[in-house]
Amino acid sequence: MPEFPDLVVLARSCDEALKGKQISRVQIAQPKCLNLSPAALADAVVGQAITGVRPRGKWALFALDRGDILAINLGMGGEVRLHSADAEPDLARERAVLRFADEDQLWIHFWWFGHVHLVPGGDLSSHPQLAKLGVDPLAESFTPEALGRLLAGRRGALKRYLLDQRFLAGIGNVYVQDILWHAGLHPLTPARDLGSADISRLHRAIRHVLDEGIRWGGGPGERDVWGVEGRYAEHLQVGYRTGKSCPSCGTTIEELRVGSTTSYICPRCQPDPRLAAR
Ligand SMILES: [Zn+2]
Repeated sequence: MPEFPDLVVLARSCDEALKGKQISRVQIAQPKCLNLSPAALADAVVGQAITGVRPRGKWALFALDRGDILAINLGMGGEVRLHSADAEPDLARERAVLRFADEDQLWIHFWWFGHVHLVPGGDLSSHPQLAKLGVDPLAESFTPEALGRLLAGRRGALKRYLLDQRFLAGIGNVYVQDILWHAGLHPLTPARDLGSADISRLHRAIRHVLDEGIRWGGGPGERDVWGVEGRYAEHLQVGYRTGKSCPSCGTTIEELRVGSTTSYICPRCQPDPRLAAR
C-alpha cells in the first residue's frame, strides 16, 4: 500500500506529466470505487483541465480548472500510469481510465480498497475520509511540539498512533519500521512515556525516513506515473530484514506482531520497555 513518500513521488510525476491536460472522456470499469455515478462523474469532469497534483496522506489530489478535485486513493496494489493514444486498456484490470484531449490516457488500477472520488469545489472538509486526516508529516506546522501534543497522555503503543491516519497522514507499515529504529524506540513503548528528547528524536526520524523515501523514488513495488519503480527497498534499515544484521550495532533483526501488523526491530537499539521495567 503506498505511503506518503510514494504519494509525493507519484503526485510530483503526475503534476509534471498531466498539468494542462483536458479530460475528454472517462471510462469506469469498477463503479463502486466512485462516490457518485459514472455518468455524474463524467458530467462533472469532462472538459476540465488538470491544474496541479499534490499528495495528501495516502491520496493523490488532482486539482481541476473549475475548482473541483479528483481524489485518488490507490488502496492495495494500486498504480496510476500514463499511456499514449495507441495503448488499449484491459478493462478487466484497470478500474478507471481518463482520456485527455491530446489523446494521452491515464490508467488507474488497484486490487483492493481504491477510490476515485470527486470533491466538488475542492472542499476537502466535505469529504468523509479526507476531512479526518491528521497533519501532513512534512508540513512546517508539524513541529516536535505538535508531535508531543499528539502523543501526550496516550496510553497505547506508540506504533499504533504513528499509523493512525487521524494523527499523522500517510505513514504506514513500511516507513514506520525505520522511523522507530532511527528514533531508538520500541513499537510497544507507551506513547505517554516519551520524554521531550524522545519526541525530538522521533520527529527527526519521521522527517528523515520520509525524505529518504522520496529521495529514492518511493518504496518497494511503488511506481511513478511513468512506471519507474521506487528504490527505497534497497535502503531499508530494519524494515522487512528479519534475520539480517542491524546496520548500527550488528544485532540480529527480529520481527514481532503489534496489533494486526508486523514490526521489525533491532532488540538492542530499540529495547522493549516491558523488559526495562522489570
Ligand atoms: Zn542495533
